[in-house]
Amino acid sequence: MKPFLTLPFKLELYKIGGGWFYRPQDLITKVGGSNRHFAIDLYLSQGTPVLAAASGWAISSYHHFLLRKKSDRRRFIRYRGKLFGSGQGNFVVIYHPRQRLFTQYGHLERVNPTIPFYKPKKKRGLVQPPVERFQPRLFNQKNARRVKGGEVIGWVGGSGIIGGWDKPHLHFELYRYRDREGKKPGDSFLDPYDIYKTANHYPWPGHKRPMGDNHLWVLGKRGLPSH
Ligand SMILES: [Zn+2]
Repeated sequence: MKPFLTLPFKLELYKIGGGWFYRPQDLITKVGGSNRHFAIDLYLSQGTPVLAAASGWAISSYHHFLLRKKSDRRRFIRYRGKLFGSGQGNFVVIYHPRQRLFTQYGHLERVNPTIPFYKPKKKRGLVQPPVERFQPRLFNQKNARRVKGGEVIGWVGGSGIIGGWDKPHLHFELYRYRDREGKKPGDSFLDPYDIYKTANHYPWPGHKRPMGDNHLWVLGKRGLPSH
């Protein structure tokens, strides 16, 4: 596949901090029985504009896990010995028909109000979006809004993170499909850097690895992902 993604933020606004690629704490957290975090967390400051990484059709919603009984471990993230509720909070999903891929942007402070928002439903300990909306055939003129690559789709925040276990950041996902229940199976995720699949450990600041040959970023002058 040809590179088609541009950075979902203005590079000059990015403060180099933790989590350029994957978070070190992913090594110790377990979410839903999986210790993988199929996404990239970009530690940008609260309110930084978030940009569409490519053109496509956008919708938005809200999602988090409700804090219920502690025995329900699947609903929690264990971090430094404590349990925290988590979810993507306010998020935007963009379907890119040409590539038949989705990008998703989580924990937004708020989403661009011109992007159709689907009210979440409360269900068995989850506040989740109406997932039937998230199948590719529903990303059309009627249900979604056309966005251009580089367009502002929302603003960085910490929504969906309950208990203050993490700083505001942009959770960025790239995936191929959702199953019938609207879940994104592990084999549906792609690593835009082409690092994850080839590495047997996570890269993180101090352990940076070069991008793989099959990365999906449009490169700028300095050979880095750009706009
Ligand atoms: Zn994340």
